[in-house]
Amino acid sequence: MRPSLTFQIKPDLPESLAPLAEIAANLWFSWHAGAIDLMQRVDHHLWREVNHNPVALLNQISQERLETLAEDSGFLAQMDRVVETMRAYLGATKCAFLNGRAPEGLKIAYFSAEYGLTDCLSLYSGGLGVLSGDHLKSASDLNLPLVAVGLAYGQGYFNQYLNADGWQQEEYHPNDFYNLPMSLMTTDDGNELRISVDIEGRPLQARVWRISVGRVPLYLMDANIEDNPPELRSITFQLYGGDREMRIRQEILLGIGGVRLLKALNIEPNVFHMNEGHSAFASLERIRQLRQEKGLNFNEAREVVRASNCFTTHTPVPAGNDYFDPDLVRRHFSSYVADLGISLPVLMAYGRVDPRNDSEQFCMTVLAMRLSDFANGVSRLHGRVSRQMWQGVWPHFPEEDIPVGHVTNGVHIPSWISSDMAYLYYRYLGPGWHEDPDSQTVWKAIEEMPDAELWRARERRRGQMVAFLRNTMVEQLSRRGASAEELRRAGEALNPEALTIVFARRFATYKRAVLIAQDQERLAKILGNPQQPVQIIFAGKAHPKDNEGKEFIRRVVALTHDKRFRDKIVFIEDYDINTARYLVQGADIWLNTPRRPMEACGTSGMKAVANGGLHLSILDGWWDEGFQPGLGWAIGRGEEHSGEYPQDEVEARALYRLLEDEVVPLFYRRDAYGLPRGWISYVKNSLRNLCPVFNSHRMVEDYAENAYLSASRRFLNLVADEFSGAKGLGDWSQRIMENWSQVQVVSAESAAPHSAIWGQELPISAMVRLGDLKPEDVAVDAYYGRLRPDGEFAERLTHTLEPVGQNDGMWRFEGKVLAQSTGRLGLAVRVVPNHPLAGSKYSLGLAAWS
Ligand SMILES: *Cc1c(COP(=O)(O)O)cnc(C)c1O
Repeated sequence: MRPSLTFQIKPDLPESLAPLAEIAANLWFSWHAGAIDLMQRVDHHLWREVNHNPVALLNQISQERLETLAEDSGFLAQMDRVVETMRAYLGATKCAFLNGRAPEGLKIAYFSAEYGLTDCLSLYSGGLGVLSGDHLKSASDLNLPLVAVGLAYGQGYFNQYLNADGWQQEEYHPNDFYNLPMSLMTTDDGNELRISVDIEGRPLQARVWRISVGRVPLYLMDANIEDNPPELRSITFQLYGGDREMRIRQEILLGIGGVRLLKALNIEPNVFHMNEGHSAFASLERIRQLRQEKGLNFNEAREVVRASNCFTTHTPVPAGNDYFDPDLVRRHFSSYVADLGISLPVLMAYGRVDPRNDSEQFCMTVLAMRLSDFANGVSRLHGRVSRQMWQGVWPHFPEEDIPVGHVTNGVHIPSWISSDMAYLYYRYLGPGWHEDPDSQTVWKAIEEMPDAELWRARERRRGQMVAFLRNTMVEQLSRRGASAEELRRAGEALNPEALTIVFARRFATYKRAVLIAQDQERLAKILGNPQQPVQIIFAGKAHPKDNEGKEFIRRVVALTHDKRFRDKIVFIEDYDINTARYLVQGADIWLNTPRRPMEACGTSGMKAVANGGLHLSILDGWWDEGFQPGLGWAIGRGEEHSGEYPQDEVEARALYRLLEDEVVPLFYRRDAYGLPRGWISYVKNSLRNLCPVFNSHRMVEDYAENAYLSASRRFLNLVADEFSGAKGLGDWSQRIMENWSQVQVVSAESAAPHSAIWGQELPISAMVRLGDLKPEDVAVDAYYGRLRPDGEFAERLTHTLEPVGQNDGMWRFEGKVLAQSTGRLGLAVRVVPNHPLAGSKYSLGLAAWS
């Protein structure tokens, strides 16, 4: 039986407690310890029971308790302080770091398929989501004008539990949106706001939920409404559930629906940031709207879209990218392409590395890259890997010049920090650690922190982590029907004083959770020394379809039953933000053992580091740029292996050696006061050097400086004067593409002798055929630099040559390059399209070389 009417009943909050509802309605609470403390004070047990959901807390609290609180002057005073702080935060309008440099009307739209924001919002699966969440929080703190778009998953990602054999089971819990810090968007006439997209000829409608992330609004589309046919309602049930057809439909809603959503809200962004390829269809909808509403043609609209798009790729392996069968795309886009003004084969070409290969799958990453003037990987190493991986999209350019850079990820420190460490930071670093965490000066003051206080905070957090893990394991085991003996043991597992290694992350096989157990005898010796006890905590989910990942979990769970490891190795079920927070706050060693270079960045280690944990990892992702001796440890030297090489064995041995010779002795070397001075100096080095860099304020500022500001300027230039710039650029790009086959570098010469002196200017001339193009349509660059012994360029400098005359249908270009380095200098001449309004020389992917 379904009800015919529904009501939303709000608790009868006494007048004096009204600010509680105000605080509960904004996720600002989730990174302000005072607000969390306040919610805890409302009802400690209930707060935990509702999974730290302030709206559910207020909805479920007894009227009696509310009335007691309304009379509690201490509570009221604390509440007033919190709400005043929040109002001041939300009311601030200045973006200090942009400091007036932003173009008038800067507005960034951020698209992501998942958001990991806070414990009670199950809208993420792992690192990608948590990263999006941290991005929004830093954008809010920095007061960057950003709005975010995503999907409201009715069930989110699965909850994990294990059966008696240690095999992962999945269960889905419904998200009760009405009982969460989110609100339904309505139109002016009070009806639900509806967005509609077309799914194979049928309309799919979505309603829209708004989550306030501090100053940043996040809009989530929800297709689970009565007006949709049942088989379409499930489109927003699960994150990464379902088959390819489900996935393309989700991505149509996210990308195309997302752009329509912004329009319905009268939000007119001039920068679009696609976090991962899932939202790449947004570009198509933007082109469609520009055609339909502004009368642009496809080329003109595409230039506007490309100029204002930023795209971040997160996957270092081809299989990790989103691919669709050509037939699936055909079915969903065959009528849509008419509105774009292109044919289906042209659309397909935008999603293929080789546009002419009809059998190639349609790749969302390729679509996003072809339609973005800014693209990046998420660490320095991943930027390099991405250039290698996607070189085929720019076949006319050498790998080093592929226009995919990097912005290294960061974490939102206030969201991950323990109250003990926060207290110390306020005391010794001042408020800057919270407000200006990417300042080197702020973190320098870590030296002022007394070793004993730092160590006490570390010990306390380890103790709290152990207590949390014991409780959680007892709960999890009793749900599984474990024996009284097992429950008793779980209640006493782990040692709050032992050196604690944590391995917590998705159980993707490349992360090699079981590497540390490669040689069980040797591991047993390391863990089993009663004078220097060591223990390991594992947590993480495998994707429901990843049986190999589940097998890794089963093997880890088997270790926990081995009597050599009993009470010293534990696996904690259902890794989520809440568990992650306990673990990153309590770990002494945060371990990461990916197969390089598969870890695009990794962020959990940054959370542990900010809490005074030390990072021990393969040199992959962020650690490849963060590691220095004396602040953590590197397994190996950044080797990359393939084929027969016994990589696991070699790297496991290196890990054991580090633990035996360095980590364990350093941790247990105590002075007369019981302090591990050597270890503490590692911790301080790590905090001072790593925190100012690997935080999300620095990351968001990098995006703003390197991507958002220039993208918005390009956009504003192109749309000014009734899109005159866009029209010019659209015509120009059409002309370039039609005529490029005529472009040819006939010769490149220098009058200088082949041995020259350092500092000398070398005259360069080139004869170039341009066909029907003009010299101002192109840049003819001298491309030069020092050569490596193998004859490849070791450095790559360019200097643009000037046209000096024409004869025989060829143009002569001349210029001078400076011999700036000694040794062998190489030089080539290249011609690339050049237009003052184009985002970059790589936009059209064209080049001709000498
Ligand atoms: C930070 C975090 C991640 C990402 O961890 P990686 O180091 O990137 O593997 C995944 N899940 C949760 C719950 C997190 O908090």
